Amino acid sequence: MKHTRPRSADLGGLHLATAGSGFGQGWLGYSGDMQTRFAELLTSMYTETSNVVNERDAEFAPTDLPAETRTRLIHSLDSWNFEPHKLPDEEALACTMMLFEALFRIEHMQDSLGLSLKDQIYPLIHHLRRIYRWENTYHNFEHALDVLQCTYIFLRSAGMVPSVSILLDEDPQSSWTSQRQFDSGPLMTCLGLKEIFVVYIVAIGHDVAHPGFTNLFMKNAETPLSMVYDGKSALEQMHCSLLLKVMRHYGLGPLLDDTSSGTQCVKKLLSETVLATDMSVHGAFMKNFKSLIDDDLAEPTREGRIGKEGEGQLWRRQVLLCEALMKCADISNPFRPYHVSQHWAAALMGEWTSQAMLEKCMDLPTTVQCSGDPLSEANGQVFFIDTFAKPLLELVVEAVPGEY
Ligand SMILES: [Zn+2]
Repeated sequence: MKHTRPRSADLGGLHLATAGSGFGQGWLGYSGDMQTRFAELLTSMYTETSNVVNERDAEFAPTDLPAETRTRLIHSLDSWNFEPHKLPDEEALACTMMLFEALFRIEHMQDSLGLSLKDQIYPLIHHLRRIYRWENTYHNFEHALDVLQCTYIFLRSAGMVPSVSILLDEDPQSSWTSQRQFDSGPLMTCLGLKEIFVVYIVAIGHDVAHPGFTNLFMKNAETPLSMVYDGKSALEQMHCSLLLKVMRHYGLGPLLDDTSSGTQCVKKLLSETVLATDMSVHGAFMKNFKSLIDDDLAEPTREGRIGKEGEGQLWRRQVLLCEALMKCADISNPFRPYHVSQHWAAALMGEWTSQAMLEKCMDLPTTVQCSGDPLSEANGQVFFIDTFAKPLLELVVEAVPGEY
């Protein structure tokens, strides 16, 4: 069953509202100038989001799926053809829960985090899902699950997390231990249990409450959100602050403030990783990650690195690796099989088309591509792959070679 949240200020309504000469008959009505109506849209979005964020007693009871459905979903999660947009809502939610359930089968994971799957993680995920705007054609919960599943596939391939098929094990208590020793040299081993958990949480929460507009649009339109953050990664700062708030609500505060692993606190790692998903800081990330690879080549042993850089080197490796994993997963659409990739490209185009329409109505510069011309859409994809996706993936492959 799909959600029934009222479509008070959604992008579908926006289509109607701005249709024709910019004075359609949608929820915005006939009167008022565009600036006023846009301000109403933002206010409505803001109120709706803060209402859902602050809901203290969102009841949640996981649905018991039939055994055959659960098995089918487990197999689909293990596939690179994963298509969350084809799943009914309750199955998409179940898939998310199962990825965390399998994560908690890692020996000592639960003790190390001091969290309960049933009482904290499941209600937290359920709450986050409600804050995602299902009206967005791209930045919705399906995208979040897609990014989480991709992150899982990366970490499973690197021998850092168990296959989700561990859930098919007859023994519900069966646990899994990685063969890889913590901080033993290869970059991937710099992730401990808490850092792996952070990557999972960021994957599912990194776009929470996304309004369906880009940072550049928000800046050009002088939205309050963009002004508050001085036009710097306004969306990502908002995602991060909401994610932290909801996490604290479910008792994850002590974990966020934890510094016992000897590096910075967990909250800092989480924030840095969310902020790295802003593509406007992509160039800076690539430079920093390249310099980490060069330093590793110059000083391949852990002892040598500590001698040179002190304990700070572990923190630097953790942040850059978490950011790299998240960025790769966030822009992984073109790496998926063609038909899957095609779905995501069309979904993003739908969101951009709504924004371009609004830019036109508000006399703002057009900053995104509109759908309608298949050739320019294809060229847009080729440009994105050549400029961002491929160089990023090549650099990460260099840093994390297939050595397992
Ligand atoms: Zn994203």
